[in-house]
Amino acid sequence: MKWSTTASLILLLGCWSVADGRSVNVQLEDVRVHESPDHTRVVFDTTAAVNYELFTLSNPDRVVIDLSNTALRPDFDLATVPPGRKRVKGVRASARSSGYRVVLDVAMPVRPKGFALKPQSPYGHRLVVDLFSEAPAADGSAGGSPAVVPRDEKRPIVVAIDAGHGGKDPGAVGPNRVREKTVVLSIARKLAAKLDAVRGYRTVLIRDGDYYVPLRDRNVKARNLGADLFISIHADAFKSPEVAGASVFTLSDRGASSETARWLAQRENSYESIGGISLTEHDELVAKVLWDISMDASRSASITAGERVLDALGSVAKLHKNRVEQAGFLVLKSPDVPSILVETGFISNPRDARRLNTSDYQDRIASAVAEGVRTYMEAYAPPGTLIAWERERGEVRYTIERGDTLSEIAARYGTSTRRIREANDLRGDSIRIGQTITIPAG
Ligand SMILES: [Zn+2]
Repeated sequence: MKWSTTASLILLLGCWSVADGRSVNVQLEDVRVHESPDHTRVVFDTTAAVNYELFTLSNPDRVVIDLSNTALRPDFDLATVPPGRKRVKGVRASARSSGYRVVLDVAMPVRPKGFALKPQSPYGHRLVVDLFSEAPAADGSAGGSPAVVPRDEKRPIVVAIDAGHGGKDPGAVGPNRVREKTVVLSIARKLAAKLDAVRGYRTVLIRDGDYYVPLRDRNVKARNLGADLFISIHADAFKSPEVAGASVFTLSDRGASSETARWLAQRENSYESIGGISLTEHDELVAKVLWDISMDASRSASITAGERVLDALGSVAKLHKNRVEQAGFLVLKSPDVPSILVETGFISNPRDARRLNTSDYQDRIASAVAEGVRTYMEAYAPPGTLIAWERERGEVRYTIERGDTLSEIAARYGTSTRRIREANDLRGDSIRIGQTITIPAG
């Protein structure tokens, strides 16, 4: 059995008593279950802010939410709450001496995250519990990336790839109805495939379909999945069709560093209060403290990563700006995960739009971003990762090129094919172009 606890606000109001003598001051009005492909959101509507504990139980898998000093609305029957189709099989509850216990029967192990929301019309106080499917094992065994081979249980570098917009938010729309949400999802998937093919890397797609993920949820999800780097992919529009080229952004200290940056940030952030849930207020206190402490380190790492990606992009695309720009993109506000936003081009520019809509150009952009990520990570691999461990040991990583053979590579680096095979879990002598292998030290 495992459990985790999340505490929330304590609000003392006048208490009243229910028939069995318990003291309550909050009433649970409704429970709503929303499924999206990557997580399930359970919203508890309450008459006041509620103090709660949140934990999971296994065999069978359950999520337990203990609501303090809470009673059910007298005419509310939890059995009438329709369960979700995917993760939540059922909702039940029972009165406890200290309040009310709600149990979600879930179809799979999940990682819950709870947060309180203040009233915002038309909604009152809400407790939101997001259920994420358990992250794949850190060794990549459940991550669907056969190229990731565990070595002494060193973990892969995890890169979270965020295709901008999605679902009800199409993003920018260019000439010939080229839609940003479609183009960026395609680039994101290509980027994920390229990095997953590199030993020592594993990617997670923040969205992998045509649906909307709120901005703040995107970097929360990245953090929950243990991301070492967050890359948001966009292809925005500008008011002038002449503006073209790729750019890379990191979060600005305050405000924006150029007019384009300011304008884009405004556009990207405008979807923030969709669906009546304003995520700008969620975890406000905690987030603010965390940001102040670690934002500086995270921002300087972001700029370095951004510079490597921009360098690599320069060889396949015209650059809009030759330096990493900074803007107040909400999706980049992650205190501890270096985060960059790649504008792959301006979909409002006819030439950019035409190119961005081709698989070939998407592929070249994805390759360049992947190369930039790898250049950055080779220098700044996070401690505990396979790549950091190899660097410490003086090992060299080599990407197979056309015409290479294992024995020729071994000779070049003064080692043996046997040692290369051992270091890379290779069975025979077969290698493929683009494959990255480790050359053992000495
Ligand atoms: Zn965008």
